Amino acid sequence: MTGAPGLAPTDPPLDHSPAVEVQGLTKRYGAFTAVDGIDLTIARGEIMGLLGPNGAGKTTTLRMLCGLLRPTAGTARVAGIDLGRDPRGAKAKLGYLDEEPIVYPYLTGREFLTFVCDLYGVPGGAERRAHVQGLLELFELADKQDETIAGYSHGMRQKIGLASLLAHSPELLLLDEPTNGLDPRSARRVKDLLQELSRRGVTTVLSTHLLEIAQALCDRVAIMDRGRIVAVGTLEELRQGTQQATASLEDLFLALTGGPEAPGLIP
Ligand code: ATP
Repeated sequence: MTGAPGLAPTDPPLDHSPAVEVQGLTKRYGAFTAVDGIDLTIARGEIMGLLGPNGAGKTTTLRMLCGLLRPTAGTARVAGIDLGRDPRGAKAKLGYLDEEPIVYPYLTGREFLTFVCDLYGVPGGAERRAHVQGLLELFELADKQDETIAGYSHGMRQKIGLASLLAHSPELLLLDEPTNGLDPRSARRVKDLLQELSRRGVTTVLSTHLLEIAQALCDRVAIMDRGRIVAVGTLEELRQGTQQATASLEDLFLALTGGPEAPGLIP
């Protein structure tokens, strides 16, 4: 997808600090610990998958990394900026896709992308109009650009949400189940797009339950369980760590998160 429309011709960032540095990151709700002191370092341009059973703490982690949730303890640096000290500066460098993309239903697709450009201070003019048009084409929404988002299907909302993240050409993408609701062709396009962005130095942290997506797309995965990271590495490193030389990612996931046994599904 080299030269894909909608992708700003970004140079790799000159700053060589990691894209994400997390130390002791913790989120408690009362007595319940949703994220329990995780440490994680992610290199620039890396695609990192967050895997784990329902309730493992993936969304909570992503929401802390994008500045939407304040950690109870620990620190997070994104794109070299301490989120606790300079949340605005950090947010300007990242794009976050929530589980349910946050969109404005009574704006058209084009109006929404233009609005997001305004929010991030992207200068107006012919270049910005071409950028917005490129994003609409990249996500195959050009023919819907003048319809209100209220009339978009679930997958189309997901796509306009993804397109809006690229409005300000961020260095870091935090994506909560980005292929959720996408048809196979669109999911493939998103996968190709993230790989193209990675080659341009853009870092992605994504959560997914689709292990085949994680295996095909991610450079490394972090497997979470009950608020902790129980394993992190490439598929090969995870195999070595669990001494299962030929295990699939699914086998490793099940082994690391409590096994496949389901008690008495059918009596
Ligand atoms: P899923 O795969 O189902 O999306 P997840 O790994 O993203 O799950 P989180 O949404 O991060 O999990 O939730 C982690 C835990 O924190 C869950 O037990 C959840 O019930 C709890 N939790 C999340 N938000 C709150 C909240 N606002 N108040 C209390 N508990 C919460």
